[in-house]
Amino acid sequence: MRAVDIIIKKRDGLELSAQEIEYFVEGYTHGDIPDYQAAAWAMAVLLKGMNARETTDLTLAMANSGEILDLSQVVLIAVDKHSTGGVGDKTTLVVEPAVAACGLPVGKMSGRGLGFSGGTLDKIESIPGYRVDLTKEEFLEQLGRVGIVLTGQSVDLAPADGKFYALRDVTGTVQSIPLIASSVMSKKIAAGAQAIVLDVKVGLGAFMTNLEEAHRLAELMVAIGRSSGRRVVALLSDMNQPLGSAVGNALELMEAIDTLHGGGPADFRAHCIEVGGHLLVLGDKAKDLTIGKAMIEKALGDGSAWESFRRLVVAQKGDVSYVDDPTKLAHASILEEITAPADGYIMEINARKVGEAAIMLGAGRAKKGDVIDPAVGILVHAKVGDSLKKGQPLFTIHANDRALVEPVRIALLQAVAWSMVPVQPLPLFYGLIE
Ligand code: URA
Repeated sequence: MRAVDIIIKKRDGLELSAQEIEYFVEGYTHGDIPDYQAAAWAMAVLLKGMNARETTDLTLAMANSGEILDLSQVVLIAVDKHSTGGVGDKTTLVVEPAVAACGLPVGKMSGRGLGFSGGTLDKIESIPGYRVDLTKEEFLEQLGRVGIVLTGQSVDLAPADGKFYALRDVTGTVQSIPLIASSVMSKKIAAGAQAIVLDVKVGLGAFMTNLEEAHRLAELMVAIGRSSGRRVVALLSDMNQPLGSAVGNALELMEAIDTLHGGGPADFRAHCIEVGGHLLVLGDKAKDLTIGKAMIEKALGDGSAWESFRRLVVAQKGDVSYVDDPTKLAHASILEEITAPADGYIMEINARKVGEAAIMLGAGRAKKGDVIDPAVGILVHAKVGDSLKKGQPLFTIHANDRALVEPVRIALLQAVAWSMVPVQPLPLFYGLIE
């Protein structure tokens, strides 16, 4: 078999066999297939698509590129969650500890920023020393002992996704249903959780911009999970405007810490409670969603979610003094406030444009391996439906390069659409696929 023939076959819109998919995934993982061929292949998949059978084979090939954990060795049941990516989505940093605080073990393999969307690993790495490269043995030991793990792909776990993910980020090949589904589900299968809640984002700042595509992605991932013997549900959630207020790595970590202390923006908090509630139901810790949500609210209110987050940071060798005192986290040297240019109702805060503005500041990568700046980002002070008076705060830019402030200011002003008549707030969720 030759990689070039597999690329040509997909370029011409033909169906790939399981053997061809395995050959390509294995070859790329082991370095026998170079980045330029993998990039061409990913672009062919993006343009020509894959059917459900090919996508399932791709998922399994990626999951089998490393070890598949058997968590039943260390816990009775473990749960996991995954978001398909958005702007300001720091949900994992709150939901994981809250669920673990309710007595349900959570073991999760997260990703880095992808395109305009942020990544949990980049956010948690704002804590000096925090390790995101646990081995299989370390993953299992920590899950059994601490009940919570938050790591990334490693040489042991779904290494193929680690390579494809970084490549897709910088080759314009993120927005593809088969590539997203296989990336998410290979990590979920490898990490071994028996019950998984998928948070499928839909809207201007998501990879799926309309509900129909989001539904297709959600259904495909649920089907792949079920065929691997996992309990899976998918929530369809709004990503037209940024979630919460903070966009940028250390800023988002600080907002997550506020939320773990019982505060945080109302939309973000409600989102976490819903996702956490579903995890408790799926993991048999709560009889129904109302009870599950009440348990998460309690964990956020009584300090137990916060304690569980601290235990996670300590277990993964992060310097816990940075989360105990978030003023120690990286801070930008330049803060610039943008205010409402006139009175009006906010009709749109384009999450994608806000995400791109954060990347301009250095919060994400323009090419593979770029170093990100944890301190920079944007605070968004309003929500769709809010009524603002001229001069009220709209955004705060956190920058480390004076030259970037003006272009980012212009980009952010262009991200907002105004109305003279009242506007309905956006819903947080659009549906659930069970
Ligand atoms: N999250 C992932 O893990 N992979 C994707 O491709 C998109 C979101």
